[in-house]
Amino acid sequence: MKYISTRGQSPAIGFSDILLGGLAPDGGLYLPVHYPQLSDADLSAMRGLNYRDLAFYILSRLIDDIPAVDLKAIIDKTYRAEVYGFTRAGQNAEDITPTLKLEHNLYLLSLSNGPTLAFKDMAMQLLGNLFEYVLKKRNETTNILGATSGDTGSAAEYAMRGKEGVRVFMLSPYQKMSRFQTAQMFSLQDDNIFNIAVKGVFDDAQDMVKAVSNDSLFKAKYKIGAVNSINWGRIVAQVVYYFKGYFAVTQNNAQKVDFAVPSGNFGNVCAGHIARMMGLPINKLVVATNENDVLDEFFKTGIYRPRGAANTYQTSSPSMDISKASNFERFVYDLVGRDGAKVRELWSSVDKGGAFEIKELLPQLADYGFVSGSSSHANRMQTIRETKAKYNVVIDTHTADGLKVALHYLSQPQRNKDIPMLVLETAQPAKFEDAIVVALGQVPERPASLNNIEDLPQKFEVMDASVDAIKDFIVTKSQ
Ligand SMILES: *Cc1c(COP(=O)(O)O)cnc(C)c1O
Repeated sequence: MKYISTRGQSPAIGFSDILLGGLAPDGGLYLPVHYPQLSDADLSAMRGLNYRDLAFYILSRLIDDIPAVDLKAIIDKTYRAEVYGFTRAGQNAEDITPTLKLEHNLYLLSLSNGPTLAFKDMAMQLLGNLFEYVLKKRNETTNILGATSGDTGSAAEYAMRGKEGVRVFMLSPYQKMSRFQTAQMFSLQDDNIFNIAVKGVFDDAQDMVKAVSNDSLFKAKYKIGAVNSINWGRIVAQVVYYFKGYFAVTQNNAQKVDFAVPSGNFGNVCAGHIARMMGLPINKLVVATNENDVLDEFFKTGIYRPRGAANTYQTSSPSMDISKASNFERFVYDLVGRDGAKVRELWSSVDKGGAFEIKELLPQLADYGFVSGSSSHANRMQTIRETKAKYNVVIDTHTADGLKVALHYLSQPQRNKDIPMLVLETAQPAKFEDAIVVALGQVPERPASLNNIEDLPQKFEVMDASVDAIKDFIVTKSQ
């Protein structure tokens, strides 16, 4: 399987070659040259497989430059009950992404039972093992540099800790993450993990990362890498749980399901789109946003109008506070019939801070089966309260975005009541304690082993928002 760029001007290359990089040389995102097709017989063969075997069935169609035995070993090492063990009462950790039934044909698909309690662990843990494998094969090392306001940074650190050939330099805004998120990251004592608390806001940290990445000499000399949300390895890993969820709630391949996906960078729901393109019988993909509703606007109007930092709201579902959905270009490439020139034309305006409109493609858009909606802070608080009252289940604010939009869609009179709806649970409530206290007046239960995480010794550097300071730090630690 070769990978091509959404902008059509980069040579096709193999999986291992795109794994360690970011954007394609022409500025586009990588996608497989075609989507492998899983037939009805394939679906029947996959039904009943455990998560590891299912993951191998799917990923081996997309990753063919790693020998099958090695790929199987990497997958088996990643998707273990011990790694994804923070389950709710009654769930089986062996399922890796167990479902939780709320009522007839309404389920949560739990994607946040991994080490950092958010769905990013689903992909990042695999990425950590893939990185280690590929770097070792090539006798290379990498210095991963990133900026985080919470979920991505901690998922990356837990995935890369102790990995040979990998160092992680993770910048975060000093004293601006929640106490729990801070403790999760800063309590890691591994020699290859460097937490850097930047005296500034998230954008200052992000600017430092961009400045270092734009210095191509420094980047090459110090092998600066990234694990941001456009990484194809992350998307591909996420395709698997759509299949797992489908098989969990259906009895035969003639049945279809809906998925509701709390969305920001369009990474999670992009994997759902790809699952459908590979043959998974999906009825609707319900894209749920918070007040940062750029994607909702697109699916309702055909206008994609990313917003700048000044027009991006801080909300109680902070991991979705994104106004430029970095993976969206992957879907648009398919929408325009895989025409790289058309994508270049559309993004020539986006890359300059503009918008685009594809009114003429609205009929095609409808064929892809997306619906969308958005939620407000008040909606989330109400959804959390109602879910607790009705089902005795506590959900986090991001999952509440998904459930709120899903319920609105389910309430449409024309909607077929026989189709199961799976709402993707993207974080556990313990991760966003303060918001749960506001909603319910009580602190959500935490996995017992994390109870005193705030009291553990912390390892971090405080740094001015200075590009030279971070460069000096990387140079020193690379010796
Ligand atoms: C990252 C994240 C999201 C958004 O996922 P995208 O792939 O960016 O659309 C939603 N919820 C939580 C908890 C997250 O960490």
